Parts: sequence; C-alpha cells; structure tokens
Amino acid sequence: MKPVDIQQIGEELAIKWDDGSETFVPLEKLRRYCPCAGCKGEIDVMGNLYKNPDRPLSPEAFQLRGITRVGTYAIQPSWKDGHASGLYSFEYLRKVAEAA
Ligand SMILES: [Zn+2]
Repeated sequence: MKPVDIQQIGEELAIKWDDGSETFVPLEKLRRYCPCAGCKGEIDVMGNLYKNPDRPLSPEAFQLRGITRVGTYAIQPSWKDGHASGLYSFEYLRKVAEAA
C-alpha cells in the first residue's frame, strides 16, 4: 500500500492511500511514533533496550517543517525543533495511522 497524497491539514496529516482509503494522523502522534534510533532506542546483542530518557518535547517538536519523500518506500518528516532523522516506511506509516 502506498500513499498517493499526503497533506497537512491543521494539526493532522491527511494521507490518501492507493486503495482509496484515507487516514488522519495527528502530528503529535506521528512524532511520538518516530522510528529513529534516538527516539525508539536501540537493542543491543544482549537484548537490552537503550532509550533516551523520556525528555520532554517542546511544542515545536510537534510542528511539521516539511516532508521529504524517500525513494518509493518512505517519507521523512522534518520537525521545527530540528529533528529529522525518522524514516517512516509506508508500511510503518499505515501502522501508525491505524494504531489506537
Ligand atoms: Zn526520532
């Protein structure tokens, strides 16, 4: 499944998919699901999860500066607090959209 159109509408990201469905993801949710190692943590060979302590995110962290398309499989949002290392594959994006 691939998005055919991605637009920011207010505080949400409206994603139109190639199956004709449409999902809305609040920007705050999108940011909290950031899949980069710094946000999600890294698992070492022993299975221990290393995660940055949950630092409070500034309001800018939930404001979108722009979205870059990466190849044909992912998007990379850049946030106003300067964070832009999260790569959201379309599959992951769909999961975030459907997560409660
Ligand atoms: Zn991140």
